[in-house]
Amino acid sequence: MANNYYETLGVSKTASDDEIKSAYRNLAKKYHPDLNKTPEAAEKFKEINEAYSVLSDKTKRSNYDQFGSADGPQGFGGGGFSGGFEGGFGGFDDILNMFGFGGGRAGSAQMREKGEDIETNLTISFEEAAFGVEKEISVNRRERCPDCHGTGAKSDSDYVTCSECNGSGKVTYTQQSLFGISRTVGVCRNCGGKGKVVKNKCVTCRGSGLKTVNAKIKVKIPAGIDNDQVVRVQGEGNRTASNNGVPGDLRIFIRVQPHALLVRKDDDLYVDAYTPITTLLLGGKIEIPTLKGKQTIDIAPLTQSNTTYTLRGKGIKHLRGLGNGDLVVTLKGEMPKDLDKNATKLVKELQSIMNDRSYPKTNNYKKKMEQ
Ligand SMILES: [Zn+2]
Ligand SMILES: [Zn+2]
Repeated sequence: MANNYYETLGVSKTASDDEIKSAYRNLAKKYHPDLNKTPEAAEKFKEINEAYSVLSDKTKRSNYDQFGSADGPQGFGGGGFSGGFEGGFGGFDDILNMFGFGGGRAGSAQMREKGEDIETNLTISFEEAAFGVEKEISVNRRERCPDCHGTGAKSDSDYVTCSECNGSGKVTYTQQSLFGISRTVGVCRNCGGKGKVVKNKCVTCRGSGLKTVNAKIKVKIPAGIDNDQVVRVQGEGNRTASNNGVPGDLRIFIRVQPHALLVRKDDDLYVDAYTPITTLLLGGKIEIPTLKGKQTIDIAPLTQSNTTYTLRGKGIKHLRGLGNGDLVVTLKGEMPKDLDKNATKLVKELQSIMNDRSYPKTNNYKKKMEQ
C-alpha cells in the first residue's frame, strides 16, 4: 500500500504549497545522506523525496488524494513511482546545492564546504526577454569577514590549534564489536573538522567569519527567457568563511513585462489584428506589430474575419536549440461604430444587389434550419 505522504512530510491534508515545500526542506536537510550518517537516513530521505514529488505536483497530489496513487486510477496497485523533480523547485542538484553540498556525493570524505545559493527577482521588458540582455544587479550576500579573514577570531592569537584533535580535524573512535576492535575516523566535534578553535570572537562578524555585503553583479539574461524561469549564475552566491570553500550560486527568478499587443505562448507570439470590415470586403494592406517593428501584410478581397496568418520564425528565439517560434496573426473584422445617412444608403444598396447565394455558409445554415 502506498505510504501516507502527508504523514511522511508531517503536514495536514489541507497544507498549502508553501507549507509542503517548507516541511520538505526541513526534512530533506535533516535526512540528507551527506549530513545524516545514521543507517535509516538514506531510506527516510528517499521517502521524503517521493512524498514531495507527489504533493508538490497539483495533478499528482489530486490523484493521490482521490485514488491513493499519484498516477490516478490506472496506477492503482502498480506501485510505480515514476516521479522525479520537475517544475519550479529544480532538480536533485538544486537540492544538494541548497544545503551546500553541490556535486557528487561519492567523494564526501573530501567534501569541500560550499556557500549557500542566494535568490533574487528580476523584472525585464518583453523585448529584453526576446533578444537577451545584460544587466547589473545588486544583491546582498555573505562574504569572508575582512577583519578576521574568515577565522571568526578577534586576533591571530585567538585562533588556536584544537586540543581534541591536535589540529588534524579528525578523531578516531574505537569500538568493541563481535569481530574485535573496530576503528572509525570521524570529524572532530570540538572544532568541526577545522583543526582550530576560536578563543575570542571577532567583533565584526561575531565569530561567523562572514559579513553581509552588497555586491553588484553583471548577468547575461539569454534570449528566449520566459516568466518564472530561473537563471543560475554559478559562484555568485554566498562565500564560505574558509579559504578552500566553494561559493554558492545566484539564482535569478525572471519576471517578464507584457507587450502592448503581442501575447506570448511558449515561443510563439499571437496578435489580434483589428481591421475595418470594408478592408475585409475589398482587400488591402494592414500593419501588424512584430518583435522588430511594424510589418505590412496583404489582405485578399473577401477575406473572412478570424482568418489567421502564420509568419514562420517571427516568434521568440528558442532558449535551447536553434530557431524561433512563429507569429500568428488573427484578423478581426470590425464593424463601424455608427453609420451616417449616406453610409446607410450605400449599405442598403449593397444589400439589395446581394442575396443569400453571395454568402455560401449563411445559405447552407439557413437550409439546415429548414430541415
Ligand atoms: Zn570577522
Ligand atoms: Zn579538533
